[in-house]
Amino acid sequence: MSTIKTKVIVISDTHGKCFPHGETLTQQVDVVIHCGDLTQHSKLDEFRQTLSLLRSFNAPLKIAIAGNHDFSLDPVAFPAKLVEAYKIDPALENDQELVTKEFGTPGEARKLLDDAAQDGVVFLDEGNHYFTLDNGAALNIYASPYTPFTEPWGFTYNPESHHAFDIDPEVDIVITHGPPRGIMDITADRRRIGCPQLFAAVARARPKMHCFGHVHGGWGAKLASWRPEISEHPSHFADIDNGKSRFIANLARLCGSDFETAGERARKNEIARSEARGCFEVSCEEIKLDSSRAAEAAGGQAAVEESTLFVNAALESGGELRHLPWLIEIDLPRRSASRNHKVAGEKPDSKRKRSPSVSSAKENVESGSVDGHTQGKRGWWT
Ligand SMILES: [Zn+2]
Repeated sequence: MSTIKTKVIVISDTHGKCFPHGETLTQQVDVVIHCGDLTQHSKLDEFRQTLSLLRSFNAPLKIAIAGNHDFSLDPVAFPAKLVEAYKIDPALENDQELVTKEFGTPGEARKLLDDAAQDGVVFLDEGNHYFTLDNGAALNIYASPYTPFTEPWGFTYNPESHHAFDIDPEVDIVITHGPPRGIMDITADRRRIGCPQLFAAVARARPKMHCFGHVHGGWGAKLASWRPEISEHPSHFADIDNGKSRFIANLARLCGSDFETAGERARKNEIARSEARGCFEVSCEEIKLDSSRAAEAAGGQAAVEESTLFVNAALESGGELRHLPWLIEIDLPRRSASRNHKVAGEKPDSKRKRSPSVSSAKENVESGSVDGHTQGKRGWWT
């Protein structure tokens, strides 16, 4: 099948902050993905800051979803969080003018995001979405802001109950706020908080990439090789072949002990190169190389879809955006020239696995503004 190399920057958990020293990435890419927690307190000014950060990328399409902190986008959570705020600060309840100024009226934050469509920013609700990119590729995305929680936050479900992640089997990229269970989902207090139902849904769909954030210390990327047969109740223990999988990077590896072995020198060089670029880069070749090794080991049977690149792109650490964004190069199917491109969210009629889905969304989106200044060494790792 004819494919098109597509460059995707993935970020998450920016919490209404800008990059250190107001920097931005100048690389031209096809798509930017933000996996939620656009804000810290769901305030209008924080949404505005994140929108200006998204606009600063040199990409015609910037996709964003919500996270648990973005509760004013959730019509159920918003009133509940305000009641919580009134309990902490009773004076706030009597100052509705201030509440409206900070958080906006119901729907106001969403309107800010929707209005940014003119700058190529597309805010996605939960579900499957189909895009035709400016580079001629078709992109099939599943998005979900939902995470398991017992406390009142935005876009949550009770961990004891069921949440359906209805991922299109032809999906290319899954974007969720939370991690799947077992994949870069360990919190600072050593708990796995990833969702088992999400893992099961991703294991069945086997996307090219699943990106998320939420667990900030879980920043990293893992190229996971799937077992040939997926279990009835998939789990990271049973369905990922760890012998054929590998971490591309994670914080433990990058910030680990500093022996002068050849491996450590390579690690230091990798960090220096990434910091100079301002992002951590993964090429198509790198992903394919691993897949072809996996294919060799499996007697030539495995294809690139037998692996999924999991990316935890949470940038915030210690109140700043210290972790690097990811720049991922991914092979996407060429769009079918024979079909008309429709509006966002419309499902293409193709049923064939990995066929070039069409129908879409952001045709002729305007290019995002380009911030011309260059990247310096940031020291984002410490
Ligand atoms: Zn966060």
